[in-house]
Amino acid sequence: MMRKRGKFRLLDQIARVSETLRRPEFVAFMPAITLAGFWWGGERVLIATALGLPMVYALLGAVRMAPATAVTDGRDGLTGLELRDSFVAMLDASLLRTDGRVTNSACLVLRLDEADRIAERHGHAARNEMLRRTAERLAGALRESDRLARLDGASFAVALAPSRRADLESMVQLSARLQDAVAAPISLDGTRVFVTASVGYALSGRVAARTGALLLEAAETAADDALRNGPGAIRSYAPETHRTQSDRSAFRSVIETALDTGQIVAHFQPQLCTDTGAVSGFEALARWQHPTRGILPPSEFITELEAAGLSERLGEVMLFQALSALSRWDSEGLDVPLVGINFSREELRNPRLVDKLKWELDRFAIVPERIAVEVLETVVADADNDTIVRNIAALAELGCGIDLDDFGTGHASITNIRRFTVRRIKIDRSFVTHVDQDREQQAIVSAILSMAERLGLDTLAEGVETPAEHAMLAQLGCGHVQGFGLARPMPLDDTFDWMRRHGAALAPAPQFGQRMG
Ligand code: C2E
Ligand code: CA
Ligand code: CA
Repeated sequence: MMRKRGKFRLLDQIARVSETLRRPEFVAFMPAITLAGFWWGGERVLIATALGLPMVYALLGAVRMAPATAVTDGRDGLTGLELRDSFVAMLDASLLRTDGRVTNSACLVLRLDEADRIAERHGHAARNEMLRRTAERLAGALRESDRLARLDGASFAVALAPSRRADLESMVQLSARLQDAVAAPISLDGTRVFVTASVGYALSGRVAARTGALLLEAAETAADDALRNGPGAIRSYAPETHRTQSDRSAFRSVIETALDTGQIVAHFQPQLCTDTGAVSGFEALARWQHPTRGILPPSEFITELEAAGLSERLGEVMLFQALSALSRWDSEGLDVPLVGINFSREELRNPRLVDKLKWELDRFAIVPERIAVEVLETVVADADNDTIVRNIAALAELGCGIDLDDFGTGHASITNIRRFTVRRIKIDRSFVTHVDQDREQQAIVSAILSMAERLGLDTLAEGVETPAEHAMLAQLGCGHVQGFGLARPMPLDDTFDWMRRHGAALAPAPQFGQRMG
């Protein structure tokens, strides 16, 4: 599987030596070496060193510039793994040896969840190192008879030997095992990087025709589905995952009906104040209560919904449910200061947005201060659209809080933060993960917090999954927290009990180092 490793290691070592020799401190010694040559061996050595050294550097430069991902002998130059074409040919051959009943075959595709972010933060050499190490770990976790290949980007494919009886249960177990294998932190440039993978798999019995290309395509469709639901999601291929153009338009009319018939509902996820532990709000998150498929998250429908021009309808449904929830909490005597509502770019383009919101607030007799308008940082960053700018300003003017969502992913300028009178920033989940263990995460979060403090902005960290992350964020001075570690988004009816239990158990934020109970 990895027979070319030795050769690649040698290339690697040459590249590393070349990297070291090209560092400025070595280059600074060049004149001294040339002079030493003259002192030691006279003019000939002087000329040889003066001409020879630049040549050596030029050659080393060539080594360094050789593409790290070059294809060598039909294999991936970076990982030594086989590539798509030979993998598909191998799948074809292996499918011929299965009968689809007693013997079955399967293909898995792993997509690394945050490869682009790692490349952005640590550089391409680090990304390559991560891919190389992941390939080694995957190879180590598989059986001799299984085959591993590298796909484009940060993806890998696994083919299971046909003799093995693959069923859904064993595939989930294998997917989880492969996720565990890649999960251990990797040291890159002195910082620890946590790699997670989303996995999709397809059983040969579930694809329309038993060809390698179709089986791999099915596993890739499932992996894309997993990636949308990630990090660390596992999805199996079902023929209905694969939508054609005509399926899509049918899907749109289905979702329109879903909006009209109350199948799209808000689930609510609590946000806590780190000082007091009290509930400081709930975020309303859309869910589709699908008649046959169960509860679906927005990743399953929001793209189609937006493409069908239904964003405004979704906004109306969510606003109505969020305001109803505030009324219910009030009448139950529960103290919920505000509810966060996600406003899409499309909704913010609607010139009637503010009037509609005012009208609804009046209808429910709720003050605007109890609405947190969540706007993505990316929308604020490139808001050159007049209506969007005016709408956000008018919402702030009205008294609604403006929460800058997914902060850290969108490059909003300080001018924009000021211009939109942002009240709070929601630190993106990618900076919160492992903040208790990872120095670099701490440095980023601290920098965001001190910037927020100077600008007089409140802060909320999202995606808090463990008490240790919660405690570290409290220690760093983050104002509010939200995440699975506190509670998952839940139907309105479940929030009442949750609030009462939370109120009863209200205790100071957990101390750093305490394990999750
Ligand atoms: P978002 O606004 O960033 O919402 C937070 C997402 O993170 C939610 O996913 C939530 O379930 C998830 N989450 C919360 N805590 C954790 C955690 O500890 N770990 C992890 N891994 N995830 C956590 P959800 O509900 O699937 O929503 C995804 C996105 O869909 C939202 O991201 C938002 O951009 C969009 N969305 C949701 N509801 C609406 C809506 O009513 N209108 C619009 N326009 N967009 C919505
Ligand atoms: Ca949000
Ligand atoms: Ca967010």
